[in-house]
Amino acid sequence: MELPAEFIAQMTALLGEKELPQFLQSIEGASPVSIRYNPLKPFLDQHFSATTPIPWAAEAYYLAQRPSFTADPSLHAGQYYVQEAASMFLSAVLDQALDLRVDVQALDLCAAPGGKSTLIASKISPDSLLVSNEVIRSRAHILSENIQKWGCNNVWVSNNDPSDFGQKLPSFFDLIVVDAPCSGEGMFRKAPHSIAEWSLSSVQHCALRQQRILHDVWDSLKAGGILIYSTCTYNETENEDNLLKFRGDCPFESVALNFPKEWSITETTKDGLYAYRFYPHKTAGEGFFISVLKKEGHSQSKMPKVKKSVFNKVDPNTNTLLHDWLKDADLFRFWLREANINAIRPVHKALAELLSDRLRLLYGGFELAVQTRKSVNPTQAAALSPALNHANFNCIDLDLEQALAYLRLDTLDAEIATNTKDWQLMRYNGLGLGWIKRIDARINNYYPKEWKIRLSLDKLLGTE
Ligand code: SAM
Repeated sequence: MELPAEFIAQMTALLGEKELPQFLQSIEGASPVSIRYNPLKPFLDQHFSATTPIPWAAEAYYLAQRPSFTADPSLHAGQYYVQEAASMFLSAVLDQALDLRVDVQALDLCAAPGGKSTLIASKISPDSLLVSNEVIRSRAHILSENIQKWGCNNVWVSNNDPSDFGQKLPSFFDLIVVDAPCSGEGMFRKAPHSIAEWSLSSVQHCALRQQRILHDVWDSLKAGGILIYSTCTYNETENEDNLLKFRGDCPFESVALNFPKEWSITETTKDGLYAYRFYPHKTAGEGFFISVLKKEGHSQSKMPKVKKSVFNKVDPNTNTLLHDWLKDADLFRFWLREANINAIRPVHKALAELLSDRLRLLYGGFELAVQTRKSVNPTQAAALSPALNHANFNCIDLDLEQALAYLRLDTLDAEIATNTKDWQLMRYNGLGLGWIKRIDARINNYYPKEWKIRLSLDKLLGTE
């Protein structure tokens, strides 16, 4: 697809006449394929062959070619995330922008589908808490799915407008990541349809929206806190100029970072604003922009109080039952939140109450069980959690074809399961995928319908 003349003019201004042809040539080429492994769910053996480490993120690799990710049950079990390499640069930025040994309250404001949130979750301490937010409801559900698959117990998924944070949780977060919706110039190679959507007026429109988002969320950042702003676009209107304009209203210190020369990241300084860009002709990845803002002052914020908690105690029998479900059960307390029973670290109790009170939550940290009138049932998140004690459940180990059939919600042969009426955990390579229950000759598959794989089994197995 032909690139708009205004885009080429803008890139010429950014890169210069000499460098432009290399840039244009690079976006004609193929996009690198990259993944990031989940440290909570390590593979016993090397899962992908022919990998090259990505230097700026832990457990992250380029793959020599693109496999059929959908046909790999390990992806659905949350053992890795398919993420564009430049986006993983957030990892190296976090390393320098704050002390990750200290517990933080973090917000990923524009989080769907969850690439940055799963990365942040893997970097913060277990007693830190991440709110992973997405304003568009359908996308927030996909985010919730990916967070549950990642299997952490300190990430809460919300579906709120950025202004809700500034208004309802003032001076609350130590870290806010704004991976802003943008004109997507850095995605022209990977998603060529974004070329047709690009225009100078869409750049202006995006810049205004980004201004609004930054203003709306800023009050929610503690004094002395860090806001990381990123886009997948090159132009200065949505990047430096936008941040400089924002600084006029909301003063901040721009944080300078330092990266090895061999990473070929382009550092810019404009009116005292430090920023870092990825260009595809210099670094294996798509286009990316990132800059770190530090709010002035020191935090003295106190935790706001909740008038009426929605958390209720679970009864002693349920407590004993749930204790058996988890490996390190003493790390958690169990709280009933409407019908959900959450496993919550004591240090997060007051925070969790506050979030439940102020936000529209789609997923509350670690939702372990659902209480019905007759029983206590394990959730999908429980099946996916590395905290689940498999020794106390009936586990069914599936081969590739069986696992794909399960994830497709196909009718399963009852012989696959144990002859018990209890919940049975379907596993692939030792990791939970979801639950079934056997009722005589029939198997009830509890894998969430919205998550089901839609490709045919023949296509998935390559036998078509
Ligand atoms: N951080 C995500 C990741 O790493 O997977 C990608 C985020 S994407 C670049 C930007 C997100 O902002 C989209 O999910 C989009 O739905 C959301 N968004 C769109 N309009 C928004 C608005 N007005 N306020 C906040 N977020 C918005």
